[in-house]
Amino acid sequence: MPHYCTLIPGDGIGPEVAHAAVRAVEATGVDICWRRSELNEAIILESGKTLPHYLLDSLNETHVGLKGPVTTPVAGGFQSVNVALRKALDLFANVRPVRTLPGIKTRFDDVRIDMVIFRENTEDLYSGLEHEIVKDVVTSLKVITRIASERIARYAFNYAKTNRRRQVTAIHKANIMKLADGLFLRCCREVAAQFPEIQYKELIVDNASLQLVIRPETFDILLLPNLYGDIVSDLAAGLVGGLGIVPGANMGETHAIFEAVHGSAPDIAGQGKANPTALMLSAVMLLTHLGENESACKLQNAVETVYREGKQLTGDVGGTASTEEFTDAVLRTIKA
Ligand code: ATP
Repeated sequence: MPHYCTLIPGDGIGPEVAHAAVRAVEATGVDICWRRSELNEAIILESGKTLPHYLLDSLNETHVGLKGPVTTPVAGGFQSVNVALRKALDLFANVRPVRTLPGIKTRFDDVRIDMVIFRENTEDLYSGLEHEIVKDVVTSLKVITRIASERIARYAFNYAKTNRRRQVTAIHKANIMKLADGLFLRCCREVAAQFPEIQYKELIVDNASLQLVIRPETFDILLLPNLYGDIVSDLAAGLVGGLGIVPGANMGETHAIFEAVHGSAPDIAGQGKANPTALMLSAVMLLTHLGENESACKLQNAVETVYREGKQLTGDVGGTASTEEFTDAVLRTIKA
């Protein structure tokens, strides 16, 4: 029986990196059948729906998705598709491994960075509850609940335990948002007490940003509410070479969608410049989720080999190769 997986290429650089990731997954020899679901700004504007029925139907059938970015309009326009999808399928945990890849020149050449970010994915300032009380006065609701905070904390600690990680750092601003971040922190502490074998630390988000830049190698598992998780993810990506290489997974009880940390990068879309590594490594997480560990290892090792050799890298990581040339190099390595 093949695995069935919903493929959402998205827009901007999405279709280019999705095509590359699909080629790489198929090269591993895994038996996978893609259910392609188009979703982009034009479709959303035309249908007037953020999440078309065919997309949810497909995901309810397959329960797993590989997704490229979908553009979110800034300051107006339709609701973020990414946020809507996470809420609709209750994909409460956003998991983002941030690791040094061999051969990439960064400011931290002498240290090995290996952290995993656990970002709460359903609430906080992403509740979408904003309104203008009177002209030029706007409120935006930050929603923090015990149920969501405990759930992401438990997910992070369970991951730490299963994967033999040593430390979880909860990141917050509870000195200012005493009630909201205070509740998040209380939940983290209660869950931490159930995992005495894992060291538990807390950092205020501004200090955490400083420490991440000064000594990134000291971080292990990061546990954050939604907004700080979003911002710290991009910061962490910058530490290891940029958004082109950091993968991610949106995990729920019944569904999982794998997508890169980066957005649709309209500045380089359609030019063959996009780095597909982040979506390929998201596909490694997908293969692991499907229990296809051998294929996952093949793809992970092939990507690392191409980086180690350093001859076919894309522009964002200091090379001159196109999306296709990089992908061809990964495929050649898998086949070798
Ligand atoms: P969003 O808010 O939708 O997450 P963003 O504001 O984080 O998006 P991106 O679209 O991720 O922005 O792009 C940020 C910068 O990183 C851009 O200059 C873009 O070209 C670059 N970038 C992002 N992804 C890639 C990639 N896969 N390959 C090369 N460059 C990328």
